[in-house]
Amino acid sequence: MSSFEASLEYAQSQDQIDILFPFRERFLFPQHNNKDVHYFCGNSLGLQPKMVSYLMQKELEDWGKYGVEGHFNATYPWFSYHHFFAERLAKIVGASKEEVVAMNTLTVNLHLLMLSFYRPQGSRYKIIMEAGAFPSDQYAMETQVKMHGFDPYDAIIEITPREGAYIIEEEDILSAIADAGDSLALVIMGGVNYYTGQLFDIERITAAAHAVGAYAGYDLAHAIGNVPLKLHDWHVDFACWCSYKYLNSGPGGVGGAYVHEKYGDDPYFFRLAGWWGNDEKTRFKMQKGFVPQKGAASWQMSNAPVFNMVAHNASLDIFDKAGMKELQDKSKKLTAYLEFLLRQITNLSFEIITPADPSRRGAQLSMLFNERGREVFDHLTANGVIADWREPNVIRVAPVPMYNTYEDVYMLYEILRNI
Ligand SMILES: *Cc1c(COP(=O)(O)O)cnc(C)c1O
Repeated sequence: MSSFEASLEYAQSQDQIDILFPFRERFLFPQHNNKDVHYFCGNSLGLQPKMVSYLMQKELEDWGKYGVEGHFNATYPWFSYHHFFAERLAKIVGASKEEVVAMNTLTVNLHLLMLSFYRPQGSRYKIIMEAGAFPSDQYAMETQVKMHGFDPYDAIIEITPREGAYIIEEEDILSAIADAGDSLALVIMGGVNYYTGQLFDIERITAAAHAVGAYAGYDLAHAIGNVPLKLHDWHVDFACWCSYKYLNSGPGGVGGAYVHEKYGDDPYFFRLAGWWGNDEKTRFKMQKGFVPQKGAASWQMSNAPVFNMVAHNASLDIFDKAGMKELQDKSKKLTAYLEFLLRQITNLSFEIITPADPSRRGAQLSMLFNERGREVFDHLTANGVIADWREPNVIRVAPVPMYNTYEDVYMLYEILRNI
């Protein structure tokens, strides 16, 4: 990537040859001085696809026009609503369509899946997770182990970065798993750490967990729609995600879950049940005795929150048209370009704590400031850049391949170097 150039002309030339450039047109951008902002927050809340308002209107019309009959007669019949997502989600996470389902929200799904996959037996009750995981995940683990009568300080093993480092050595995760051995019930990791942007080696961690007889599950909040995933081939047991970050499905948008077919197809594998997880042929017979349908969809409890899912429908369509391979190719190059430019900056004191190896990160760079971080962040905001501030001293920027341009990346650099 040494052919990069730190100039606006170069950045614009790259936009002209970018096959994904037209996809930007499908999104609404917040405005600053009557111009689109430079939006680097797609890892926190993705932008709104323009199609959402049309599809939302359509859903409202169908409700008005059909009432209850909309379950079968609506443009996207509500009875089957969750089915419309499975194929497109499956492509994004690398699974079969029976292994995925759009339902609930992320932390709720994490708890539901823990009820199936964290069932301590005798001395096998420990959980390994990354230190500095997203707070919701920490709280979920803490209360799950308490529910089973364990002390979180004993039951949860956190893997920390080495002295003076910010990212976690893969080797340390693998050796902690081996050391925990028979006491280990579950390894649960973020696919991509929200703070540092570190992408974990899901395949190796999963294999290490299985080697000691533990399950491996992942919170893919920052991984889905961002990095390559092959959950089925990597033998991942379960995973969950939200859809409002890279997947652009709106604030509080519907989450999702993956369950490997080994468990999804086993009617005796434990899951908490509701009517929507029941076999669809007998769902409306209202009989006693839960009969799980096949796959991850059997973890569903309630009927689909249709209005919440409209944006998901619009967004997944765009992902399908753009293609994950194309998005990831652009992502690698765009993030590398940002890294190249940030390394030229001499007037500010910061370090990039995200891994430098492109295969160990997605579309995010975290800049750790030794001083004046908050001032720099406020300066960016005042100059039409939306980035993300994380206490105590990190600015996260995500050049997302779906709608960010090389020009956006160049302008960010230009604003920073003129501080
Ligand atoms: C964004 C995020 C969440 C948010 O959880 P919700 O249940 O969707 O509110 C949870 N975990 C991680 C790792 C996240 O990045």
